[in-house]
Amino acid sequence: MTKSIATALVTTPDPAALRRSEEVIAELPVPAGSSFGILDPATAAPIASAADHSAEQALEMVATADEAGAQWAKTPLRVRADVLRRWYELLVERSEDIALLITREMGKPLAEARAEVAYGADFVRWYSEEAARPHGDARQLPAGGAQLITQRAPVGLSVLITPWNFPLAMATRKIAPALAAGCPTVVKPAALTPLTTIFAAELAVQAGVPDGLINVVTTTSASAFSQAVLRDPRVRKVSFTGSTGVGSALMSLAAENVLRSSMELGGNAALLVFDDADLDRAVAGAFAAKMRNGGQSCIAANRIFVQDGIAEAFTEALTEKMSKVLVGNGLGADVSLGPLIDERAVASMTQLVTEATDRGAEVRTGGSALPGAGYFFAPTLLADVPPDSAIATTEIFGPIAAVQRFATQEEAIIRANATEFGLAGYVFTESLDRALNVADRLETGIVGINQGVPSNAAAPFGGIKQSGLGREGSAEGLEEYQVIRFYNIARRATA
Ligand code: NAD
Repeated sequence: MTKSIATALVTTPDPAALRRSEEVIAELPVPAGSSFGILDPATAAPIASAADHSAEQALEMVATADEAGAQWAKTPLRVRADVLRRWYELLVERSEDIALLITREMGKPLAEARAEVAYGADFVRWYSEEAARPHGDARQLPAGGAQLITQRAPVGLSVLITPWNFPLAMATRKIAPALAAGCPTVVKPAALTPLTTIFAAELAVQAGVPDGLINVVTTTSASAFSQAVLRDPRVRKVSFTGSTGVGSALMSLAAENVLRSSMELGGNAALLVFDDADLDRAVAGAFAAKMRNGGQSCIAANRIFVQDGIAEAFTEALTEKMSKVLVGNGLGADVSLGPLIDERAVASMTQLVTEATDRGAEVRTGGSALPGAGYFFAPTLLADVPPDSAIATTEIFGPIAAVQRFATQEEAIIRANATEFGLAGYVFTESLDRALNVADRLETGIVGINQGVPSNAAAPFGGIKQSGLGREGSAEGLEEYQVIRFYNIARRATA
């Protein structure tokens, strides 16, 4: 067994970026009352605090949203569209500051944080464009005698719960379509990363989003929040992004008041590399699908399946690419892998690697936590991963590429689908027929074909099986915040 730990660890942030990030943090409102601390995962040191809202305070925000929502639902579509457009412009104007905030509270390298700002702002631009499109149509009844008018009305007060891995994009992907549809919102970001959402919400108000439409609840009592808020009769919708376990519990709660529910849940994406793949393209695609966001993405390539004929060449090339990654503080020069989100995540990586290697997997690079105050784990490639090991059956959420081999197309498809998750899958082949034949058989909502980063504001992002319900982004993302109603108008002939 070869074991080479990545040694390039940059712990010193760029001083100018650090200084500017402190200035941006200082712009955030100072919490009144009880609060909790937010840590920089690169140093494990506190950087700010946020109000620790109680369930009662969350219900006050529900009341505020309810009041503001009545007027917003009547606001002309063009006004909604223009306000969203202005919010988009402010997000772009302040993109460097938002990126710094993302890096400080979540850890991803600044270049990736900038990419998230572009991606997150794009949802606001997209829904500024969707907002003004017709929200209904007129239809004929086949037998005549009446006219139908359909209308897409706002679903109503929407509770939006987001995870820590994309602090801006997961929030804008929900808030922008909710506002475009005419709904007021109560937004609960993850307690690990609330600062970006608070900042983005302040920009929305500066952009002209009326007071009371975006209410950010920051709390360490997530369960008390959902128990109180989802049972409030003024709430009509819950949209959640996070783990399948929490999503399933929220669906039970939402069932009590029959709330419209959108669930973007966990993944266990398979990435298939066939013998007829372009090696460079497959390695670049697998690297992007695995290492984007340090592997902390719901569509990360969790299981990499490589066909026997290309397996060794692919594994060697990916190992080389992984071992050259510069790890460190996301504000450090040229760093391309930041820390994991917390100590628990590092412990989980260590445990997954140990379990897999005990059962025969081979560490080609990395394999362990890195020293330093923050939560660093070396970019790791494991070859010959046993199919029933924990790393092959659970969501890794870290920088470990777990490689398995396969012999035939049929075997690859069966193994790829052998999971309760169904969010994303990836196919690498130069054969168009194979690409489409395999994509058709993958039980996922998303398929990347010769492509490691399939997400886009224009795409209907979402999963099947236990990866969720509903879609975000695209025109379908707006429908999640609309109810369809129809008027049946009696119509008789006149002379
Ligand atoms: P998580 O489920 O622990 O938390 C997500 C959010 O839910 C956080 O805001 C958290 O505070 C809140 N939460 C937790 N328990 C709650 C409760 N009882 N009531 C109300 N809110 C509650 O997930 P995480 O660790 O923040 O994020 C990682 C998970 O998110 C992974 O499983 C990942 O696959 C998934 N994810 C999915 C998508 C997608 O679009 N499908 C996108 C990003 C992340």
